[in-house]
Amino acid sequence: RAKHDGRGIYRYFEAEMGAKVRERRLLENDLRHAISRNQLRLVYQPQIDIKSGDVSGFEALVRWEHPEKGAIPPSDFIPIAEESGLILQIGEWVMRQACADAATWANPLSIAVNVSAVQMQNAGLSMMIMQTLSQTGLSPARLEIEITETALIRDMNRALHTLRQIKALGVRVAMDDFGTGYSSLANLRAFSFDKIKIDGSFIKSVDSNEQSAAIVRAVLGLGAGLNLPVVAEGIERIEELNFLRDETCAEAQGFLLSRPAEIETFAEITSGTTRRLPCAERDRADVK
Ligand code: C2E
Ligand code: MG
Ligand code: MG
Ligand code: MG
Repeated sequence: RAKHDGRGIYRYFEAEMGAKVRERRLLENDLRHAISRNQLRLVYQPQIDIKSGDVSGFEALVRWEHPEKGAIPPSDFIPIAEESGLILQIGEWVMRQACADAATWANPLSIAVNVSAVQMQNAGLSMMIMQTLSQTGLSPARLEIEITETALIRDMNRALHTLRQIKALGVRVAMDDFGTGYSSLANLRAFSFDKIKIDGSFIKSVDSNEQSAAIVRAVLGLGAGLNLPVVAEGIERIEELNFLRDETCAEAQGFLLSRPAEIETFAEITSGTTRRLPCAERDRADVK
């Protein structure tokens, strides 16, 4: 009987797995055509200088509008793109679109673009970035790439080589999701990052959770010691922003300040009419 049950469960898993694999293959196939069918677009999330309250730049985030399934989040399709190698084309599309957009802004704000671990292993990455900059006319000083630590662990030497080439272009590099990966401290030094982004999971309830507070304070201390600006991601509550201001964190990003949106939403900022987000919450935070 036990054997019978075991087999039944096994068959159930097998069917489940089969369905998952098929679903993934179908999605991969659709993703293959997403660029040519105009299904990808970028949304932008402002990054705020906490001291002045001014917008300092935007992070570009890719979105896939599937014709039948609707909006598919990056957490669902980026892994598929990475495993299938499609991330190289998608990453190039994102880079081109983000740089072309940013080049049109009268206000020369910075633009942060996420670069996948798979792209970091690709020998053509720095050449692609260089060509994109020259074709769009965007100054390299305005571009920042965001990479996670996983980008560094696959083949350290290769990643290091790519990173040096990118930095030689005058492009800045931020370590994304800091605190969630491996050997963070050694990497920060070896790769000479320009910025640290503390992962949103540490920001959540940082004002009331002693452990999160200790971690965030430690990262801010590290940033100060290494002379690296620290950005806090995922700020959703005013108390979190106030904590970060008191602890002299340089920049803030999160739903509290603004959700990611079409760039047209931020026309007054990109055109230079204002540097401030129309954000009641932020103004309240200024007063405290
Ligand atoms: P990430 O680079 O760490 O981006 C931050 C994510 O947190 C974004 O999710 C953003 O929408 C979300 N977020 C921002 N503020 C808040 C907040 O206050 N609360 C919460 N709960 N979330 C917030 P998104 O756009 O779904 O992207 C998820 C991840 O997918 C990104 O994490 C990045 O790793 C990857 N990704 C997105 N766009 C691209 C891209 O163009 N290329 C590559 N390679 N990866 C991308
Ligand atoms: Mg990012
Ligand atoms: Mg992040
Ligand atoms: Mg992330």
